[in-house]
Amino acid sequence: MKRIAVFPGSFDPFTIGHEAIVKRALSLFDEIIIAVGANALKKSYYSLATRKAMISRVFKDEPRVKVDHYEGLTVDFCEKNGAKYILRGLRTAADFEFERAIAQVNRAMASDIESVFLLTVPEHTPVNSTIVRDIIRSGGDASKFVPASINLKDYKGEEN
Ligand code: ADP
Repeated sequence: MKRIAVFPGSFDPFTIGHEAIVKRALSLFDEIIIAVGANALKKSYYSLATRKAMISRVFKDEPRVKVDHYEGLTVDFCEKNGAKYILRGLRTAADFEFERAIAQVNRAMASDIESVFLLTVPEHTPVNSTIVRDIIRSGGDASKFVPASINLKDYKGEEN
């Protein structure tokens, strides 16, 4: 049976931290679905379509990585796609506490789905989408924090 993992997140925008987690996880799973959470209550800077386009560009030559979006529960999306693993990245103790609660609740809802965590490489510890967005909004150069294949000038964000 194919080992399918879902990597859920906001990815607003997708960073080198996210990219590294997916690339490393390719040695653990046959297929990874990067699932952009479409949260109607949470305003994003980049639209759902833009975020998906950016991520698809990064993995255009990697057929084992798919890009999709979902609304609602991550475990429901996993079940719909035959995924038995949820992939998440950990940077700090704060990430751990946050992820622990989500993973334990997910496990209570779907005990056949395992959450798998990869610890970030030290140089990616400070990289997060919020800071990257702030740099972009302020007209700075955030290119070193996003995958080399993403040219930020090609994508427009929405002020909100
Ligand atoms: P969410 O809103 O679900 O936290 P994010 O897009 O911020 O979505 O993050 C998605 C996943 O990627 C989370 O597991 C997060 O901890 C992880 N992540 C974010 N930035 C990094 C990074 N620099 N290194 C490793 N993992 C990261």
